[in-house]
Amino acid sequence: MTWEPRPTPNVNPETEQYWKAASNERLLIQECQDCGLIYAYPRANCPDCFSGDVEWIEAEGTGEVYTYTVSRQMSGWPEEDLPLILAYVELEEGPRITTNIVDCDPEDVEVGTPVEVQFVETEDDDVGIPVFTPI
Ligand SMILES: [Zn+2]
Repeated sequence: MTWEPRPTPNVNPETEQYWKAASNERLLIQECQDCGLIYAYPRANCPDCFSGDVEWIEAEGTGEVYTYTVSRQMSGWPEEDLPLILAYVELEEGPRITTNIVDCDPEDVEVGTPVEVQFVETEDDDVGIPVFTPI
């Protein structure tokens, strides 16, 4: 079960487009036009060379679990949505993003499990949250 709608995350000008795309079921990452680094989360400047010449690109939405942890208690998180699987997912394109693995048992997840993105709604129609599920 997945908790929806979730509270709206902290949206700022650097991340607004990312959340908005997620509300339209698109996962955006960024590519530095100077050094070629593809990265997430959204930042106005490349985390490697600090160039401001970065472009949004749409990720395939597939990847694998890089590492994860299972939370059986989490303050403020509805009990029916526990246990919560927190994970770093390494996208096909390279970047790793912090996310949740949903619609599965913790026993179904291990390092290297192939996953694909899906999106959950928040209290704000223009803001979606990317989460992942095993494929
Ligand atoms: Zn760069």
